[in-house]
Amino acid sequence: MAALLNPVTPTANESTGGFLLRALSANGANVRELLSLTRGSTRRQILPEDAPLYEQLTGTPAEWFVRRIAHVRQGDHWPEIELFGTRWRDDWTLRGQYTQVCPECLERSAVARVEWDLMGYTACPVHRKLLVDRCADCGRALQPNRPAVDVCRCGAFLSRPDTPGQDADAGMLAWCQWLSKAVMGAIEGQTRPEPLLASFDGLSIDGWYRLCICLGGGVRALRGAHLNAACPWLDTAAVHEILRQGLEALRDVDAGRPLHIALGMGCGDSLAEQAVRGITLEDRNAASGLRMRLRLPSRWRNAKHVLHRQGDLFEGWA
Ligand SMILES: [Zn+2]
Ligand SMILES: [Zn+2]
Repeated sequence: MAALLNPVTPTANESTGGFLLRALSANGANVRELLSLTRGSTRRQILPEDAPLYEQLTGTPAEWFVRRIAHVRQGDHWPEIELFGTRWRDDWTLRGQYTQVCPECLERSAVARVEWDLMGYTACPVHRKLLVDRCADCGRALQPNRPAVDVCRCGAFLSRPDTPGQDADAGMLAWCQWLSKAVMGAIEGQTRPEPLLASFDGLSIDGWYRLCICLGGGVRALRGAHLNAACPWLDTAAVHEILRQGLEALRDVDAGRPLHIALGMGCGDSLAEQAVRGITLEDRNAASGLRMRLRLPSRWRNAKHVLHRQGDLFEGWA
């Protein structure tokens, strides 16, 4: 594949989708054309296998792309995702093709941040607003193959002074700031920041996110929010609210206070599920410990016999 005439260099905190969009639009091309060239007409996804092609095209090392593209593989019984140099359970964590952005950040730098690819990253700690997952003009999802990082397919700019955006919860801003540090650290192979809450000690990034989701109502709350949303994707505001409740409940647990919110059956079910499906041994133990501690009932049953990765037993020994 021939190199782009007008070379563009990615920043350390940029997402793959955002970088390809920026590099191609600076050269009068678009992501849709690129994907139909590399993947034919049927599968138009940015895939890790195509990293060498993206290297030829942009001059950016293939490794840069590989670390930032979700790599799905069969782990134990469930799909496991390798992304940002760490492991995740499944695509509830990743937004897939439905991207979210901070319009104010884009106005300043036109760089789509890598953390925006995560479902659990719902607000911008710099601008203290919820991320935006649809066009204020046409109401449609932000497509990865839009004309430019800051322009919707309908031609409207994403940053609009007349729609200032929704204020984010202060606790969630702290969460996003800390998640950003952890994700950038994982990409660069550094150690994790100090845990935000005692409950998160020793867990994977996926484990932190899932504990919050569990106490915010679990998979049931996510599905309910998805059904009630007036859009075919799980919207940023709904995830923000579920995580906010979960974080608040975890803060109460850590402080040994009575919980602010009543935890429903969905929480017990999701903790029971996480106790089997958690990506690391510590994640699974934390979920089952929390369910016991809160005496949450569960009707979730795992019908399959699970063989977890043997390597899990030796994690953290090196
Ligand atoms: Zn911002
Ligand atoms: Zn639009």
